[in-house]
Amino acid sequence: MSIALPPPPPLVDVTALRFAAPGTGRLIRRPGPQILNGMSFRVARGEMLGVVGESGCGKSTLGRLLAGLDRPTAGHVTVGGDDPAPRGRRAYRQSRARLQYVFQDPMSALNPRLTIGYQIAEGLRAHGLAADPGRAALHWLERVGLSAAHAARYPHQLSGGQRQRVVIARALSVDPLFTVFDEPVSALDVSVQAQVLNLLAELRRELGLTGVFISHDLRVVRYVSDRIAVIYLGEIVEIGPADAVFHHPLHPYSRALIGALLSPAPGTARRSRLTGTPPDISAPPPGCRFHPRCPWAMDRCRVEAPAPRPAGDGRQVSCHLDRPPATDAARDRAPQHREVTA
Ligand code: SF4
Repeated sequence: MSIALPPPPPLVDVTALRFAAPGTGRLIRRPGPQILNGMSFRVARGEMLGVVGESGCGKSTLGRLLAGLDRPTAGHVTVGGDDPAPRGRRAYRQSRARLQYVFQDPMSALNPRLTIGYQIAEGLRAHGLAADPGRAALHWLERVGLSAAHAARYPHQLSGGQRQRVVIARALSVDPLFTVFDEPVSALDVSVQAQVLNLLAELRRELGLTGVFISHDLRVVRYVSDRIAVIYLGEIVEIGPADAVFHHPLHPYSRALIGALLSPAPGTARRSRLTGTPPDISAPPPGCRFHPRCPWAMDRCRVEAPAPRPAGDGRQVSCHLDRPPATDAARDRAPQHREVTA
């Protein structure tokens, strides 16, 4: 008789995570805006979670908390069972090799005065991870599609795409437990974006990377992620398998993000479009935060915030509707939606 083993624990465990920006005012301290408003999710070992949403929704704040660059205001995060931002200089320093962060702008992430080879070898040297850090740096340059000749160059002598490859090599060379990729291709030309995305997909397969991939572009996120979390104004509104969220989004906001990407074939119904701009995060609307922009908002949405609920195929959605109609035309003809009751 075979005994079913319990599933392995998730590598990343996030519970009721909140983050408020630092307060302002000298004499009377005013609290800063609540940027993340209670997120809970897990990331399995070897999994890439895509995080998508409009700018200012809290994606990068989430990335910084996961990488231990900031501390939560409430709730908690563990990576590999540990606090990603441990107290104490020594413990914090040790955690840096385990948690890596690839920033959007590779130029500002690299030191303009140091050669590329030195900068890749630096982390290996600092954490004692290679017998010959210089040789290991050359190996990593080749692994990201550059050559040994690039080792002697300075950041300004490389193109944007080459610089981002260097930053990726530097992050992955220390064999991190978890990596945050924060808009790593959004500053690149479209053709270079595709090359860097292919490289990331290849490295993911080879190295079994665990991480989060942050972008405002759902197509980009889908290409490199196993699951996708859609964020609106500091909250996860939908999370689930990447293909399911991309092809059959359930939350009206996810649908609008897809609608903004795809041009429908001639003769097919227009998908829902996103209108208006996100409200100020320091004064979010009551009830469902998306209600001022949602084409299906009901009275209930204006007063009651929807709780996350399972929606089949491993998905969770925060919406009072069971399934909103797929297109604006379908909504206008006859609302097919059904309200979810508690
Ligand atoms: Fe729209 Fe209401 Fe769903 Fe919010 S809860 S997304 S306002 S239908």
